[in-house]
Amino acid sequence: MAKATTWSVPVTKALRADGAKVRKFDTSATPGFKGNKRAGEALLAERAQVLSDLQERLYANGRSGDQRSVLLVLQGMDTAGKGGIVRHVIGSVDPQGVDHASFGVPTDTEKKHHYLWRIRKELPRAGQIGVFDRSHYEDVLVVRVHELVEPPVWEKRYDEINKFERKLVDEGTTLIKVAMFVSLDEQKKRLMQRLERTDKYWKFNPADIDERAYWPAYQEAYQAVLDRTGTEYAPWHMLPCDHKWYSRLAVTELLIDALTGLKLEWPSAKFDIEEQKRRLLES
Ligand code: ADP
Repeated sequence: MAKATTWSVPVTKALRADGAKVRKFDTSATPGFKGNKRAGEALLAERAQVLSDLQERLYANGRSGDQRSVLLVLQGMDTAGKGGIVRHVIGSVDPQGVDHASFGVPTDTEKKHHYLWRIRKELPRAGQIGVFDRSHYEDVLVVRVHELVEPPVWEKRYDEINKFERKLVDEGTTLIKVAMFVSLDEQKKRLMQRLERTDKYWKFNPADIDERAYWPAYQEAYQAVLDRTGTEYAPWHMLPCDHKWYSRLAVTELLIDALTGLKLEWPSAKFDIEEQKRRLLES
């Protein structure tokens, strides 16, 4: 059976962005993992159990007054597999403990507010794992690429985002930021699948094909995000996503790493156990 030792380097280190170039990034690599797809899938099944146990501890502590939470930010190109991460990684934990939010084109109401307004509303509650499918980073990605606001407006957002995230971390949220990348070829295959399978039509959006023409502009915008908002308190991880089994395993490990870092014990009983046992027996 596969063992956790099939990681040759800890996942946080293997994926740390640290000045890497988006344009040269190998989206088909499996950094830090020595095994093949079969070993990866077997390990994922094992590690899902570990993740589930840790999540329950986080939840239990949240119910007992611990204010901490975890926020997984999934930001990636179309077809990178954000939905698959939500279904296959987050799907292995108790849904009660998950605060999930996805961010599409802002609604009329959202447009009337500061871009962080809708983000703040969806931040995870104490004891929860928050999952953002897209995020405030859209406001320096799609917005920058399509010039939806003037450059001086998006330009000042990087610092603003850093301040926002600093506060979040100070208030007890562990941020896991994951930038997901597929190659242009792999994206073409995945979009073609959406056109060839009846169970995938619903995912197809003709605009996704138009977006492919902006690939270099997106790479540049992602590079700026990694360079300017990768901080010690909220670092970016660059996730190669051509192999879905790898990206799912890697995100599972990132979550396990973050939750383990919280050193979560089971909350102690706030009642006299013997007394309650006696009362129960007498009831
Ligand atoms: P998905 O494509 O992830 O399945 P949706 O169909 O809801 O999800 O659409 C997401 C779209 O919304 C993407 O094209 C994304 O770039 C866009 N979007 C998200 N945030 C913003 C924003 N702040 N401004 C403009 N467009 C945005």
